[in-house]
Order: sequence, then structure tokens, then C-alpha cells
Amino acid sequence: MHKMLIGGALERGSRTLDVIDPSTGEAFDKVPDATTVDVDKAVAAATAAFPAWRDSSADARAGVLEAMAGVIEGNLDELADLLIAETGRPRDLAMFELAHLAVGYLRYYASLRLEPELLVDDDTRRVELHRKPLGVVAAIIPWNAPVFITCNKLAPALAAGNTVVVKTAPTTPLTTLRLGELIAEVVPHGVVNILSGGNEAGAHLVSHRDVAKVTFTGSTETGRKIMEACAPTLKRVTLELGGNDAAIVMPDADVATVAPGIFGFSFFNSGQVCAVIKRLYVHDSLYDEMCETLGAMAAGCKVGSGRHGDAQFGPIQNKAQFEKVRGYIEQARKDGKVVVGGDVTDGPGYFVPLTIIRDVTEGHAIVDEEPFGPVLPVIRYSDVDDVVARANASPFALGGSVWGSDVERASAVAARLESGSVWVNQHCALDPAVPFPANKQSGFGVEGGVEGLYPYTALQTVNIAKPQ
Ligand code: NAD
Repeated sequence: MHKMLIGGALERGSRTLDVIDPSTGEAFDKVPDATTVDVDKAVAAATAAFPAWRDSSADARAGVLEAMAGVIEGNLDELADLLIAETGRPRDLAMFELAHLAVGYLRYYASLRLEPELLVDDDTRRVELHRKPLGVVAAIIPWNAPVFITCNKLAPALAAGNTVVVKTAPTTPLTTLRLGELIAEVVPHGVVNILSGGNEAGAHLVSHRDVAKVTFTGSTETGRKIMEACAPTLKRVTLELGGNDAAIVMPDADVATVAPGIFGFSFFNSGQVCAVIKRLYVHDSLYDEMCETLGAMAAGCKVGSGRHGDAQFGPIQNKAQFEKVRGYIEQARKDGKVVVGGDVTDGPGYFVPLTIIRDVTEGHAIVDEEPFGPVLPVIRYSDVDDVVARANASPFALGGSVWGSDVERASAVAARLESGSVWVNQHCALDPAVPFPANKQSGFGVEGGVEGLYPYTALQTVNIAKPQ
């Protein structure tokens, strides 16, 4: 059984949680299920490790991040096997998460340095602006990209001088626990602690009085509870929540040119990504052609277990989400017309065929809500001003994109979207150096880029009077 990393020691805990293979629905492993005692122990270890880590040099901390990236690269096959086992995804996607995203974000933050800024330096005084670490950071992780999201939080938090307690998602703990076992050799004791466990462990961690900041990625519903739990001690909080990204296909778009990109960014990881295309608005003049083209692409794809070679799209990661997606599809069949897919069987495994629904619009759940699965509603529009207003009418505002031949015109329309990221002729193009902000009920605080370091710091001005 893989163990939790607490204060540099590998711990079995006192109870266990089953890990389910989403390709079969059967339990295939067990992990520790952290109790409140384990959480307290991890927070105490992170608290004890904080002063030395805070006072270490930025170069030393960068060296540890580099070493963590090296550990992932040195154990890629083993980690990918675990990630495939717990998510069912194809190998290339598992490799992308580990080798490109997780390693990329660790290396990027290893390359940054937080230097004091000189604000005033005149005859009478010198004023500097410093950014100081906060203390113990609690990182709460969702199931859809477990290792990437863990590293995306560890990297800036550690680079800034904080220590961290990670709580993995209940259904995808394996790869992150293994990573914890592997990095125990290269990270000072207590600086990184990794717990597996359920929502209760998460709730105890985010309300712990010795935690200075919570960084959370997950559903908007849980985000609200976390914000509430942070209120009594006024913890700093970053929330990366749900999305319902709109993509707008302009009247001048060439369907054959844009369709592959739209298809890829709609069904990436079987739609289990916060910022993939979840509402596709297509101009009237291209509507039928786009539905047919995307439908043909989806029909040619293989959905199956990543454990067996040639599947391009894996299952839904867990039963609760599978049932949710199935419910959305059943309702969408009544509200609109199925272009392709739509037949969800009872298993074994949590497989959902790539599904495209046409002739739906606002007011239908498949358009207004976030199914978080391989289901794309295609919505008709005839006026660009109107479609911008409809795209912006969502309470979510994570990402959005505009697709067309006239790039300047498409860029001008993209600039009118209210989401944190907008893309033109692409979607969900993540880059560690580029901030990934969330607006409205998709969250706040920011990850990515230099801006992603700042929420892990407290500002301090240092004001020095000069002798007169
Ligand atoms: P979730 O909110 O159910 O769970 C996320 C994590 O929160 C889990 O580790 C869970 O155990 C923990 N948790 C649950 N209740 C808690 C509580 N009261 N206190 C503390 N922790 C608690 O989300 P999920 O189903 O794992 O993930 C899917 C959601 O995540 C989707 O809505 C998706 O859009 C969103 N997401 C957002 C981003 C982003 O960057 N904005 C990225 C990935 C996923």
C-alpha cells in the first residue's frame, strides 16, 4: 500500500480507502484514509519545518523544485502506469500531465526569484517592497488532473518559502502518494506533506488554525464551503473552480480548418477539464456543416480503457461523476437532437461515448451547467453582439475562445468576453509562464506566471529614514 508523507516519514495511517479502477468499477488498491489526527500531525510537521525553509535561500528552494522535477522524469513510466490505473486515461495523456505539465510548472517556478522592489530612494528615506512567505499552505486537489494540480500548487508555494500540506482527491490518490514517497529523498522533512483522504480530512485541514493559506481547485460548491471555513482566522484563499467555457465560431470561419482544434479542446481528457469548450456557439451559416463535421470526427474515435493500447479517450473517472454526466445526456436528448453518441451503457466501467447535441440553447441544463464529461452542446446564433452577451451571461468565467479567419476581428470579439483567459483559434493553451485567472464564480486568486507567486506571499514595506 502506498503511504502518506508526513514530516519526512511514510505513514500508513489507521484506516483505508479503496481505489476504484474506472475502467471496471472494481476496487484494485487501497490507500490510507487520513483522520483528523493525521491532518493535525501533517500541519504540525509543516509548521515546524517553516522557519528553516523560509530562511533558506531562493536558490536552495529552486534546487529542491528542480530535484522534484527530476524525480518525476526519472520515474515517468511507473508514475504514468499509476495515473492510467486510477484515471483510465490513455498513456499519451498521462505522459502529458506528468512530463509536460507537472515538470514544466516545477521548473518554471524554480526559475523565478522574488526580489524586493525599490519604491523610493531619495535624500530622506529608502522604501522597499518585500514579499514574504505566509507559513503553512493547505492544497486541496480535485480528481481530474491530480499530479499536475498538485505540482501547480507546490511549485509557487514552495518557491515563495511556504511549507505545504496536500490533500489528494478521494478517488485519485495513488500517483500523488507515490510521488510523495519518491520526493521524500529530496525534500527537507515537513516541507511537503501529502495526505490521502476524503472530504472530512479536507474540511479539517482548511479550518485548521495553523494553516495560513488555502489553495483549492475543485467545484464551485466546495469552493463556497472552503471560503466560509477560511473566514474565522481570515486565511488567504485561492479558488480555481468550475467553468462553462464558451467558444464562438465566427461567420468567416472555415469549418474544415477550425473543426479539429474545436474537437480536440472540447473532448480533451474526455471533457474532464475545467477549461475545455463546454458551449459551442456556431453562426447560423455554418451550423449544419459544423455539426456534421464534428459528428464525423467523434464517430471515428475509440473510447476505452487506457490500460489497453489503442483507446483515444478514457472513462469518466468516478461513479458519482459518471451518473451526473449520464443525467445531463438523458436530459439533453429530450431538449435537443443527438448528432453522435448519447448511448450510455451500465458498464462495466464508467464509459461515456463522445456525445454532440444540437438544437439546444440557454435554459437547457446541458448549456447552462457544467457536465464535466465528453458532451458538447452546439448552439446556433445569428448576431455577433448577441452571442457575446450570451457567452457572458454565465455565472462562470474561466476561459473562452473565438474562432475565425479574420484574426483581428476574432481577437476584438475575444476581448469582449469576461472570462479570465480568452483564446483565438485555440483553447485551454496552458503555459506555466502565463497566468490562468478565474473570474466571477469560477474563482479568484491566480495560478501561473509571476502573478501566481504573489498569492503565496504577504506584502511588507520596509521604510528606512536616512540621517539628516
Ligand atoms: P470537489 O469540489 O468535489 O472536490 C475537490 C477536493 O475538495 C477533493 O479533494 C475533496 O475531497 C475536497 N473537499 C470536498 N469537500 C471539502 C470541504 N468541505 N473542505 C475541504 N475540502 C473539501 O471537486 P472535484 O469533483 O474533485 O473536481 C471537479 C471540479 O473541479 C469541476 O467543477 C471542475 O471545473 C473543477 N476544476 C477547476 C479547475 C480550475 O483550475 N478552475 C481545474 C480542475 C478542476
